[in-house]
Amino acid sequence: MEMDSNKQPDCISSVIPGWFSEISPMWPGEAHSLKVEKILFQGKSDYQNVMVFQSSTYGKVLILDGVIQLTERDECAYQEMITHLPLCSIPNPKKVLVIGGGDGGVLREVSRHSSVEKIDICEIDKMVVDVSKQFFPDVAVGFEDPRVTLHIGDGVAFLKAVPEGTYDAVIVDSSDPIGPAQELFEKPFFESVAKALRPGGVVSTQAESIWLHMHIIEDIVANCRQIFKGSVNYAWTTVPTYPSGVIGFMLCSTEGPPVDFKHPVNPIDADDSHCNSSKGPLKFYNSEIHTAAFCLPTFAKKVIESK
Ligand code: SAM
Repeated sequence: MEMDSNKQPDCISSVIPGWFSEISPMWPGEAHSLKVEKILFQGKSDYQNVMVFQSSTYGKVLILDGVIQLTERDECAYQEMITHLPLCSIPNPKKVLVIGGGDGGVLREVSRHSSVEKIDICEIDKMVVDVSKQFFPDVAVGFEDPRVTLHIGDGVAFLKAVPEGTYDAVIVDSSDPIGPAQELFEKPFFESVAKALRPGGVVSTQAESIWLHMHIIEDIVANCRQIFKGSVNYAWTTVPTYPSGVIGFMLCSTEGPPVDFKHPVNPIDADDSHCNSSKGPLKFYNSEIHTAAFCLPTFAKKVIESK
């Protein structure tokens, strides 16, 4: 892994000296900024620019191609919600696949579920895994679970090779639809996810922001309604360092009795003993916020329900 913490990357000090500003065509006209105490790593993999810096208020921060992926302070919200919204909605998840998720945070959350016997992860960029293990050990702890098998490769190709009905749950913890994750937001990929799931299986995907990306969300919802014959739902949560301070999730189930995502049948609340393992306690998710995550503002509800 090349280290070059001397050269200032473009996204630093381009707006305010000593600050990181998240400038992207995905959110024109706005940019969230964080004060940079020290740049800890900069590298370029075959897929993206990778940077880690120490911020003054959110701990260490992981950046891919100039976009915030996680901060130590608020990663719990995203990792816990994208994982427990699906896994707490089915009674006995056993085989789980994570696409993306190279920081290990979703793995950490999946491994809280004692019913899970096998966790596959397909992450395209080994540099993300290595950097997370070096700078975010409390996130990358997920890789230490013996049930985890790491595959380095493209999630699109991986899913094409998966036998039909293999998994109870698929979690698509991808970056944005610019760069290597673009195909993870398209119909053929969702079709391959549905094929890889058993009847009544569930998928949870990173589904952008209702404030910024309703056009992307409505396309995803329309595709999911055609593909997933159980239930199709959109949920959201707050992550202060994501653009507009929120992020959403598509929660869908395959054919069979529709999964009722809004009322968890397999709760994993903060006071569960097995929560307080080496992964630390749950910091964000609980059964009430699970149900609340599906309550949408009117402007979003109208678009999503019309698809
Ligand atoms: N929480 C973040 C968010 O909401 O944007 C996502 C974090 S995780 C680091 C995103 C991961 O997806 C990255 O490690 C990236 O390398 C991976 N990724 C992007 N495209 C991929 C693909 N086609 N197959 C597998 N992994 C992919």
